[in-house]
Amino acid sequence: KAVGGNQWHWFDPGMDRAADEAARMAADLRLALARDEIFALYQPIVDLNTGTAVGAEVLMRWRHPEHGLIPPDIFIPVAERTGTIIELGRWVFEQACRQSADWARRSGAAPEKISVNVSARQLADPAFVGTVRDILDRTGADPAHLMIEVTETAVLNTGDAVTQLEHLRALGLRVALDDFGTGHSSLSLLLDLPVDVLKVDKSFVSGEYADHAGAIVVRNLIGFTDDFGIDAVAEGVETVEQAARLRAAGYRLAQGYLFGRPMPAADFEDTFSSMESLLSGRG
Ligand code: C2E
Ligand code: MG
Ligand code: MG
Ligand code: MG
Repeated sequence: KAVGGNQWHWFDPGMDRAADEAARMAADLRLALARDEIFALYQPIVDLNTGTAVGAEVLMRWRHPEHGLIPPDIFIPVAERTGTIIELGRWVFEQACRQSADWARRSGAAPEKISVNVSARQLADPAFVGTVRDILDRTGADPAHLMIEVTETAVLNTGDAVTQLEHLRALGLRVALDDFGTGHSSLSLLLDLPVDVLKVDKSFVSGEYADHAGAIVVRNLIGFTDDFGIDAVAEGVETVEQAARLRAAGYRLAQGYLFGRPMPAADFEDTFSSMESLLSGRG
């Protein structure tokens, strides 16, 4: 499978030495942070009515010296299985806090709000909330500018997820339920969760269910989130038509390649300031 022009062949299940390859990837990943191979990209979350970015999701990347860019769908599961995700998760949260504090200081450079993915293993870690508090203190980031994204599956597989999420909210962070609709939960689970934002999975917006059932799910979820006072973010918006349909259905917030791919912070600032000047007629 080609990724970013680089050939890599780890994790081909048909390979004899698949287990060896997996072990090697796990070992390389343990060293990746120290070797400066991990970096963070930011994808805009936009207001559909104005087209401007109101926030960003931070997404981790791994540039392996031999294998090139390895997508998170490949290395995050490895990091979760081996526990490396604890260290990687701490790193990416600190990046997000530093970036948010920087954007807040240079007010108008970019939105201050940043969303960070947190895996099941992190959520289950008794030290997690303390780590979050320490990083907030150390970086001076405003917790109101940060959001934690957890999947339904992570929440379901974590014994005291609700308590952990409540602690995070008590610190002032917001909580989003990511990839909503892909897990095995139901709407009733949502009622019991301390959640501020629901991210509707891209499979309903532009993916495999978008044309039929997905369109119905998307249309109906918004009434539900409105009634419960939860914000909805539509993920995976790729076309103008999809954006128009979401807006017509009542969505205010969206994310997707149409508005911007995950990009380095500096590119985000450039894109953001040109959008801002367009909107304010300065451009
Ligand atoms: P996610 O949290 O649901 O992130 C959104 C994913 O959808 C990102 O993939 C993003 O690049 C992709 N995406 C955004 N817009 C579009 C679109 O219009 N069309 C399509 N087809 N895709 C779109 P990415 O960056 O490859 O990340 C994949 C997953 O890896 C993330 O899904 C998240 O579950 C995990 N991940 C990424 N970074 C981190 C991290 O720092 N920590 C943890 N725990 N997980 C992470
Ligand atoms: Mg996410
Ligand atoms: Mg998602
Ligand atoms: Mg996902």
